Amino acid sequence: MTEPSIFTRILNGEIPAEIIGETDRVFAVRDIAPQAPVHLLVIPKTAEYRDVTELASGDPELLADIVSFARELAAQHTDDGDFRLVFNTGANAGQTVFHVHAHVLAGGLTEKSVGA
Ligand code: 5GP
Repeated sequence: MTEPSIFTRILNGEIPAEIIGETDRVFAVRDIAPQAPVHLLVIPKTAEYRDVTELASGDPELLADIVSFARELAAQHTDDGDFRLVFNTGANAGQTVFHVHAHVLAGGLTEKSVGA
């Protein structure tokens, strides 16, 4: 058995974090180290998929759910609804948690936040 991911531990209430929204299949929290004025994470409740490539081939509907939930959150958390969606994929691209998640970035984006 591998250790539960940080995100599974948040979902189970073992690590404190405010869940700012959820559906039956995904949930969202604010990133603990924000790289933009709005920096949210949309995370599937299942930890089955390590990254977006596995998710896209294993459960494309769940990937679509992440995108549509990101849009809803951006509508709530920004003036204009515009946002950037980032899936870091692989350690050399900055992925640190291998439980797939989308970064929703918005508001005063700079080049620095591209690699969030
Ligand atoms: P990755 O680097 O894998 O693309 O993204 C992982 C993200 O999770 C990072 O941006 C990091 O700041 C965030 N993160 C790590 N630990 C926690 C935590 O305990 N709570 C929250 N809310 N975010 C976390």
